[in-house]
Amino acid sequence: MMRWERPRFRIGLRSTLLLLNALVAAVMISLAVQAWQASQTQQAAQARQAELAEALHLSKQVDLMHDSLRAGVQASLLVGQVPGLDQFEARQRIRDDGTTYYETLQRLAQLSLPEAMRERILKVSDEARLYAIEAHKVVQAAAVDRNAAIAGLVAVDSRYKTLRHELDDLGESLGDLLHKAQVQATAEAAESRNSLLWACGLTIAAASAIVALLTFLIRRHIRHLAEVAQAIADGDLERRVGRPGGDELAFLGQAIDKMADSLSQMIAAMRSEAGRAAFERQLAEALDMADSEQQVALVTAQAMGDLVSDRPIELLVSDSSRAHMERLAEHPLVGAPGCGVGSPFDCVAVRRGSLVTFENSEALSACRHLRGRPCGPTSAVCVPLAFMGRAVGVLHATAPIDAPLSAGHTQQLGTLGAQVGMRIGTVRAFERSQIQASTDGLTGLPNRRTIEQRLRGVARGEQEFAVVMCDLDNFKRLNDSFGHVAGDAALRIFSEVLRHSLRESDLAGRWGGEEFMFVLSGADAKAADEQIDRLRARLAQTLYGGKTPRFTVSFGIADSTMSRRPDQLLRWADLALYQAKAEGRDRARIADPTMPLDEPMLRRMAMPDSESAALYGDEAA
Ligand code: GH3
Ligand code: MG
Ligand code: MG
Repeated sequence: MMRWERPRFRIGLRSTLLLLNALVAAVMISLAVQAWQASQTQQAAQARQAELAEALHLSKQVDLMHDSLRAGVQASLLVGQVPGLDQFEARQRIRDDGTTYYETLQRLAQLSLPEAMRERILKVSDEARLYAIEAHKVVQAAAVDRNAAIAGLVAVDSRYKTLRHELDDLGESLGDLLHKAQVQATAEAAESRNSLLWACGLTIAAASAIVALLTFLIRRHIRHLAEVAQAIADGDLERRVGRPGGDELAFLGQAIDKMADSLSQMIAAMRSEAGRAAFERQLAEALDMADSEQQVALVTAQAMGDLVSDRPIELLVSDSSRAHMERLAEHPLVGAPGCGVGSPFDCVAVRRGSLVTFENSEALSACRHLRGRPCGPTSAVCVPLAFMGRAVGVLHATAPIDAPLSAGHTQQLGTLGAQVGMRIGTVRAFERSQIQASTDGLTGLPNRRTIEQRLRGVARGEQEFAVVMCDLDNFKRLNDSFGHVAGDAALRIFSEVLRHSLRESDLAGRWGGEEFMFVLSGADAKAADEQIDRLRARLAQTLYGGKTPRFTVSFGIADSTMSRRPDQLLRWADLALYQAKAEGRDRARIADPTMPLDEPMLRRMAMPDSESAALYGDEAA
């Protein structure tokens, strides 16, 4: 059943942190802007209040001046009637008060007040200027004509009342404005306090959310890292964190991944090394059991298949003459690459005595035997085979140029070549020593021990056979007359005649001295006798006209109808040989099975000197 996997939204820790930092900065900036705006608003409200308070204060001063002017006018009318009043002082006071009165109104008009208010003040100010002028005129008139002054006072009073009314209205309006400004300032202060409180609350909430989110992200990331590290430690080397990014936790994840990669590579290398060691051990054991070149070939072919499944490989070995190379084994599935090298020293790897690789058979430096292969351009590995410093052959493998054999395979081919070379050399050396131990050095025929062993093998079989003992006649005389070199030549000539007269299935060997023995398979004594006639004729023909002195041979025959015991047959054949000697030599005699084997041995009768001389003619002289 398919397992549902929760979709994973991956936000990089670094980008999250940057985002959160930007968020915090934005919140702080907006907080600062708000605080600045609140303080600006408060400052503006305070300035407006101060301005209005100043306006109210000036308006009160105007009020005072207004009344003071009227009082001054009235006082000037009493100059001369009330002691202590001085006309000049009265005029001076009126002038000063008028100036102050007008200037105060002008100052009031210059304050930052609503436009309508300022227009009202300017209008009042114009009227006040006229009021002050008229008041001054009355005071001036009082010094000259008191009645005219009293008449002017009516106009001054009238203007005083009008202005009084307007000044009261103005004071009231300024008081209202101040009140409204205070109410507004209080409201604005409350509003900015609230928004500051909100901003602070939001900042604290945002900061808490940020810390919580960060904690969650970091913990989740660390938990994931711990899980992956634990899985790798438990042997799951395929597991990876797989988290890209540029933050420290991503770096830690990448380091864990790299560690897992290195670990996998190390374990893969160790496994491959262990596999290689196991292969080498098995190969060594298999080759150790191979005691012929054919068995070595079978082991090598199997090892080629185990080593590389899809690349042609062949084993070429030099023959006994070391002049030719022949294919001993090839890859069991893919076959041989088909190297056309003719002799060991025609092979560059053999000449160099070390493993050679070719990347491209068509390259200038490539071996000429690689060129023009039916498969086209190829890469190749050639491993020379040697035993005790002597070239044994070459192991040759090819592969496409774009997919050459790996370094591991090349190394294993090197190992295979070294081990196979050693084994072939050992097998050949062993076979040589076996041959030497079982062969007579002079004639190359099997020696007595070997022929006895083989005779026992034949005797154990079902087939009938004949055993023949032979002895060169008067050989001592031949030696004495012509020397041992001639004697040896005679022995070699007889062994060659013997070899060519017998079939593959027959056995022949040197029994010792100038005595030989052979076994004819599937023959009885009569057939053997006929065979010996042909042999004697061939010997005579061979010796005819040659440098070697002529000689004859006597034969004694026994067959398996008489007995299947080798010792008995040999004894009977020997007795028959003695009989042939006794009857004059140069003949064959069939044993008489009725003859008791324990009968005293017939002494070979020495031939009279005259007969020997007749045989060897003048050559003996
Ligand atoms: P008969 O016809 O009775 O066999 O006489 P014979 O002279 O052949 O027999 P005898 O046993 O008297 O002499 C055998 C001689 O063969 C003696 C020995 O010097 C010689 N002989 C044995 N082995 C070799 C050999 O390997 N090379 C040579 N040149 N002579 C050998
Ligand atoms: Mg003899
Ligand atoms: Mg003899």
